[in-house]
Amino acid sequence: MNKNILIIIFIIFITITSIILLLIIPKKYTNKKINNNFYNIKNYKEKNLSRYENYSKHNLNLSKAEIINRVNLNLDYKFYTHTKKANNLNTEKILVNKYYYLEKNYIPNNLEMINDGYQKGRLTLVHEARIAFESLASDAYNKKHLYIRAISAYRSYDYQKKLYNNYVKNDSKENADTYSARPGFSEHQTGLSLDVDNIYTDYNNFEKTKEYKWMIKNCYKYGFILRFPKSKEYITGYQFEPWHYRYVGKNIATYINKHKITLEEYIQKLEN
Ligand SMILES: [Zn+2]
Repeated sequence: MNKNILIIIFIIFITITSIILLLIIPKKYTNKKINNNFYNIKNYKEKNLSRYENYSKHNLNLSKAEIINRVNLNLDYKFYTHTKKANNLNTEKILVNKYYYLEKNYIPNNLEMINDGYQKGRLTLVHEARIAFESLASDAYNKKHLYIRAISAYRSYDYQKKLYNNYVKNDSKENADTYSARPGFSEHQTGLSLDVDNIYTDYNNFEKTKEYKWMIKNCYKYGFILRFPKSKEYITGYQFEPWHYRYVGKNIATYINKHKITLEEYIQKLEN
């Protein structure tokens, strides 16, 4: 008798619990998993679902995997919209681009003057980047008799502001945005980026020099990457810049070089 009552109580308990659970699980959640085309694809992020759907409507030629990659890189947003403060300040992983900015008062720690022999003017870089660049430039000269010189390195917010406003004044905002960063959005403000030339050739023609060929082959060994490569403009937001390099440390540079990806894609990978 007692046993039977217990069984009945147990069955009633299970039934009530099941009904409650069915009511509690949000319909929206179950529907999303079943109905959405992206759920099973690599790098899918629940929070980006509506953006995937929206972006795919306007980009019918792209695969679902590509839609996910691009939205995760914020490429469904226009440059300089939905901007956020940069993360990982004062580290090799800092990402500054047309979505992530540095505040006006951000000055990196440990800025140091680059050795006179390897630069034009009074340029500074963050300690690790400075050491690495001097070692790169000295090896290029000693081993191959090549001249690699820094022509621009750390730039303050105010300096970038002057530079950008000048371009806008002499060209147009639309054009300036393709080659110059708006103040706060320049990687030069991190103290980890620099532009180079070979002393004899205008930096715009750096691609044609032996120094460029050497840089492409060797810069990762010193912790540098070509930051704005060809055919990645849609990700970086900048035209190909053969003269602009970014210090990320040897490990990250080696990975980026091996996989032929951008810093944006590398950082995105870390977040997945
Ligand atoms: Zn630059």
